[in-house]
Amino acid sequence: MLVRVTAAGVCHTELHFLSGLLDLGVAPMTLGHEIVGVVEAVGSGVETGRVGERVIVYYYVGCGACRHCRGGNEQICPNLRAEYGFVNDGGYAEYVTVAARSAVPLPESVSDVDAAPIGCGVTTAVHAAKLAELAAGEWVVVYGVGGVGFGLVQLARAWGARVIAVGRTPAKLRMARELGAEAAVDASSEPVSARIRELTGGVGADVIFECVGSAESMTQASAALGRRGRLVFIGYSADSFTVHPIQLVVFEQKVLGSVGNTLQDLYDAVDLAARGVVQTVVDRTLPLDRFQEGLDALEKGELVGRAVLLPTPL
Ligand SMILES: [Zn+2]
Ligand SMILES: [Zn+2]
Repeated sequence: MLVRVTAAGVCHTELHFLSGLLDLGVAPMTLGHEIVGVVEAVGSGVETGRVGERVIVYYYVGCGACRHCRGGNEQICPNLRAEYGFVNDGGYAEYVTVAARSAVPLPESVSDVDAAPIGCGVTTAVHAAKLAELAAGEWVVVYGVGGVGFGLVQLARAWGARVIAVGRTPAKLRMARELGAEAAVDASSEPVSARIRELTGGVGADVIFECVGSAESMTQASAALGRRGRLVFIGYSADSFTVHPIQLVVFEQKVLGSVGNTLQDLYDAVDLAARGVVQTVVDRTLPLDRFQEGLDALEKGELVGRAVLLPTPL
């Protein structure tokens, strides 16, 4: 399908591409994997009735044949046929070509701008929340309150969990509180693991979503994890994670990684947004040709939520 892009979110992953930390060996390539638009044309074999449909793009196209794809987990397919904004041209453009199956219908109730952060931010939160096997009443720490973090706060809350947000920017922590976190810890001025122990009555967190992945955040997260706790990595930096196995053994803790999302996660995320269970947070919109401003603001930590690029005038 040829999709005319109407909104494209700026994800933190873009900074990893720019720094070279994430190098998938394809260049030049158009970034942008949070893509919303309108179907302009379809190829042969695709239902022509979809022309004119508002869509949000699922950015993986798995091989469809491996056991991960067969199980619906194409985000870990070893033979991806496409990954828009990662190895294939993405949404920082006026038009993008995507597989018809990847173009998911967008309900009227969600605007193009509000929908953009669903494509990676909310879907990644949905995926991580499922992997963490959250249970009602559990203590959940969302470490890092950006696009994924805001989604996680709301999802964990909707799941019936008790949420603690950790960040370094007062405005982001205030937003996390507004979205349902019952406590916020400022990592720039408070001892994070000690505060989490205190807030949880000494037991520590049942689930920690690590959206930062710095040496400091990983150390604090590990120290704040309770018995049977799950430490779920979503973010990463150049730093490595170190833990003594005795901690994992005697407390039966799990450390796991969560990458991207499944097609079903995107359908779920769109539904959650349409029903108002999760709202996206957009800091600002920018015309496409000012994309660098969005990246710079993200890198400086100035954004509360996403910057969304508008490739074609609204
Ligand atoms: Zn992303
Ligand atoms: Zn596959």
